[in-house]
Amino acid sequence: KATMRLDKLLAHTGFGTRSEIKQLVKRGAVTVNDKPAKDSGMQVQPDRDRIAVEGEPVAYRQFVYLMLNKPQGVVSATEDTRDRTVLDLLDEEYAHFEVFPVGRLDKDTEGLLLLTNDGKLAHNLLSPRKHVPKTYYAEVDGAVGPDDAEAFAQGVTLDDGYVTMPAKLNILQKGSPDRGERSVIELTIMEGKFHQVKRMFQAVGKKVVFLKRLSMGPLVLDPALPTGQSRELTAYELERLV
Ligand code: URA
Repeated sequence: KATMRLDKLLAHTGFGTRSEIKQLVKRGAVTVNDKPAKDSGMQVQPDRDRIAVEGEPVAYRQFVYLMLNKPQGVVSATEDTRDRTVLDLLDEEYAHFEVFPVGRLDKDTEGLLLLTNDGKLAHNLLSPRKHVPKTYYAEVDGAVGPDDAEAFAQGVTLDDGYVTMPAKLNILQKGSPDRGERSVIELTIMEGKFHQVKRMFQAVGKKVVFLKRLSMGPLVLDPALPTGQSRELTAYELERLV
């Protein structure tokens, strides 16, 4: 974008809400090319105009990249009439960036969700041709065994007839169905069909009872990030992602 509203730019760079910014402009604290800005809604060119607040130059950034450890019970949408969305979990300072989730996790799925306003990056990560691997941790009712790993490696037929690409199943703990135990697994898939992990287990007659995403491409869920919290990607994480 070549131009944008001054108040939006200042909101993006952490100078408060639109009304707070209006006050700043009103008292002459904001300058554009060394002249006091008259109107907080004026159009500016972020990469050309020199913008300062109380004499301090404003460093503009266009994109934000957030890692969220999604909790259960929120939907991966930007708007929903009934449910809380992942956007409701973000700090206020990100409200003006218009971020959106890169891909979806079910309402009852936890774990890694990338949020950004960088449409190009999102497009690349979601492109079906890129086969970005996604690894999930899951707890499954009953016994998951080597036969399931073999089936997933070959590809299984989902309820709509779609045959999945080869996926890697790692059995961490095999539960006994007689004792009502769960199996604990990790599954890496190279695509992202609707409810894919749950439907793959359904295809082998098993039920996922807990699901959490651990990684997406080179991006790994930070184990120190509590459920429901988000943080910006580090420079290192971002570098590997783009
Ligand atoms: N597979 C699922 O079934 N659900 C998710 O949320 C993600 C992958």
